[in-house]
Amino acid sequence: MLTCKDFLSGLNAFLDEETDSLLRAQLEKHINECPNCWVVVDTCKKTMKVFKGMEPQAIPTEVEDRLMQALRRKMAARRCGEA
Ligand SMILES: [Zn+2]
Repeated sequence: MLTCKDFLSGLNAFLDEETDSLLRAQLEKHINECPNCWVVVDTCKKTMKVFKGMEPQAIPTEVEDRLMQALRRKMAARRCGEA
């Protein structure tokens, strides 16, 4: 069985659709058994979809909202720090 380290070193291969099916099967097996690596793959796939998406200039509203919230929090914290 693959370790998380093995999995992460094969992650690029896994995300590349040209990877041979044996390695892919091993990596897939690992995700099924390891929630941590599953999250990593899920996040990577979503990120790739954003960058390779059909509409490159459209940022999903949900992502934009989160980004704005994070920015506002950062700015608010900064103001507090200065005061
Ligand atoms: Zn793992």
